[in-house]
Amino acid sequence: MLTGRCLCGSVTFETEAPPKGASVCHCGQCRRQSGHLWASAYVPKTELTITGKVTWFEASETAKRGFCPTCGSFLFWHAPAEDTVSFALGAVDAPTGIHLEKHIFVASKGDYYDISDALKQRD
Ligand SMILES: [Zn+2]
Ligand SMILES: [Zn+2]
Repeated sequence: MLTGRCLCGSVTFETEAPPKGASVCHCGQCRRQSGHLWASAYVPKTELTITGKVTWFEASETAKRGFCPTCGSFLFWHAPAEDTVSFALGAVDAPTGIHLEKHIFVASKGDYYDISDALKQRD
């Protein structure tokens, strides 16, 4: 069982499914919404239980971004065309049992930092 919550605690989530694809996203949308990078992993949408009110922002036609309307924690990412939902690794209660696998959208990364670890990088 993996559990997580937003900063104020009014949104919680849990899953018993093994998370996949733990990654750090460098895209401009994730950087703006999170303040820097957004680390997430995904599970089947039907396997993630969310409690509390989430505001879903449609940043594009292909994806929605879910955040807590009280404290602003950016918690979820969902593409309606896909049957998975991603959740923020920073919001997961320790021990997470998760380890990052890769950086994604590195072609869109900011110019104010370098990627200095050995994880895989995908444009
Ligand atoms: Zn909150
Ligand atoms: Zn992103």
